[in-house]
Amino acid sequence: MAFFQQNQAWVLKTWIEAQAKKTMAMRERRYIDGAQFLYFGDKITLKLREDAEPARFILRDGRLEVVLPQHLHGDQILLRNIIEAFYRQQAKAYLPLRTSQLARQHGFSYNQVRIKNQKTRWGSCSAKRNINLNMRLMMAPDGAIDYVIIHELCHLRELNHSPAFWALVESYCPEFRHWRAWFRQHGPSLIL
Ligand SMILES: [Zn+2]
Repeated sequence: MAFFQQNQAWVLKTWIEAQAKKTMAMRERRYIDGAQFLYFGDKITLKLREDAEPARFILRDGRLEVVLPQHLHGDQILLRNIIEAFYRQQAKAYLPLRTSQLARQHGFSYNQVRIKNQKTRWGSCSAKRNINLNMRLMMAPDGAIDYVIIHELCHLRELNHSPAFWALVESYCPEFRHWRAWFRQHGPSLIL
């Protein structure tokens, strides 16, 4: 009690901050009308609508419209799966195409691009010359996506993070330091 009275302001401030963080985390995980997600670095707003089956989604005018039949309205697990399906679809349409463009432009040849949903990795490159890219990259700005693709392409020549590797990355992506720092700062918030 004596501690509390002497440190009242600090205790209150800490408690309020902890509550705010908890509320924010909970809000992030809720798939409700008006919830915001990132797409190519821009905010898109979730718009929920009720209609007859089938469940579907469409992106238009900066809104991701998700249509669900009434009995499934607000179903959080289903909504999460639908939003994941949206990002996977976008990633499959964009990332392999962009990888082939950048590879052609810079003279790289690889085997295959695979789309994954890893928790902590944005991309990887295997000894079999396959490139794996995280579908959540679709939340990042296009410059950030290009950096990750170039990073993985450069691993086709340098399977390490040596100074020679970074020099290679820099030659194709002069602003790589900016994007590397960007991922350190914003990566944890690119969540579904
Ligand atoms: Zn690497």
